[in-house]
Amino acid sequence: MTSATVRVPAKINLCLGVGPVRPDGFHPLATVYQAVDLHDEVRATFRDDGQITVSVHAQMDAYAESVVVPENDENLAVRAARAVQDFTGVTDGVDLAIRKVIPVAGGMAGGSADAAAALLACNEVWGTRLSRADLDQIAATIGSDVPFLLHGGTAVGGGRGEMVSPVLARGGYHWVFATAVHGLSTASVFAEFDRLTEGQQVRDPEVPDALMAALRAGDADALGDHLSNDLTEAALSLRPELTDTLEIGLEAGALGAILSGSGPTAMFLAEDEQHSLDISIALSSAASCADVIQSRGPVPGARLVG
Ligand code: ATP
Repeated sequence: MTSATVRVPAKINLCLGVGPVRPDGFHPLATVYQAVDLHDEVRATFRDDGQITVSVHAQMDAYAESVVVPENDENLAVRAARAVQDFTGVTDGVDLAIRKVIPVAGGMAGGSADAAAALLACNEVWGTRLSRADLDQIAATIGSDVPFLLHGGTAVGGGRGEMVSPVLARGGYHWVFATAVHGLSTASVFAEFDRLTEGQQVRDPEVPDALMAALRAGDADALGDHLSNDLTEAALSLRPELTDTLEIGLEAGALGAILSGSGPTAMFLAEDEQHSLDISIALSSAASCADVIQSRGPVPGARLVG
């Protein structure tokens, strides 16, 4: 096959429990991921000279000035393609074209999503026929969120997030995302978490039973009550204005409001489509918001579309 296109969703964390830093520098996480209807696309085109190139076509102006997505070997999609070459010994190359919709450095794992998409797309154009288990193994070497983005849906993430097991979740949920003008680096938020918790005993993280019960029941009210994120204090310490964003959404009646992953995107749970529109209108006038996006979850993970 000369080219393949893969569509890949963003992720949110319905809970994000963070434990004490491990000797390898990572933090143990206990999280529930959900894939949401906000997609990047990665198109892979075969080349026979072993080279890997990448181009990025951004859809959102709000991030264009503040965050640069690398168009070189630093791009996580390139790292994914390289990892497939290393794993399989394939000597072919590929041109990767990314159509970017997922907010960059927004805590929605856009880079990891592109890596997951590149894994599938390269496997297709190179005919390497990697098994699901092989893809999971390669994905985990690229980033903690990458295995989840291959799977999608709703899933528990353990380890540093890379150990994924699906959750029996009922129903679909309406989400509103408020993006911020400037991205926030995940590493800086974890560093701030370490600074704020220095000298304290940080407990091993757990997924709250009440959150799992809400998902099993498909109970949006209960889910809203039990959304949680251990990185909130650290992210708000770096970006105090996000407190206003969260408050505006709650005042507009959101069932729950937290930051997505390490932020700065704030996420709000709505009752239905109309409620989601009401919350969006309230947020769109907030000075702290760059853009407001209505979305739904869960959706499937990375999928070939052509
Ligand atoms: P996460 O939630 O996975 O920690 P994030 O969603 O906050 O990450 P990303 O959008 O993945 O953040 O981008 C983080 C950084 O990764 C960016 O600042 C960018 O320099 C780099 N990066 C590398 N490859 C990509 C890519 N394909 N898309 C976006 N960013 C990328």
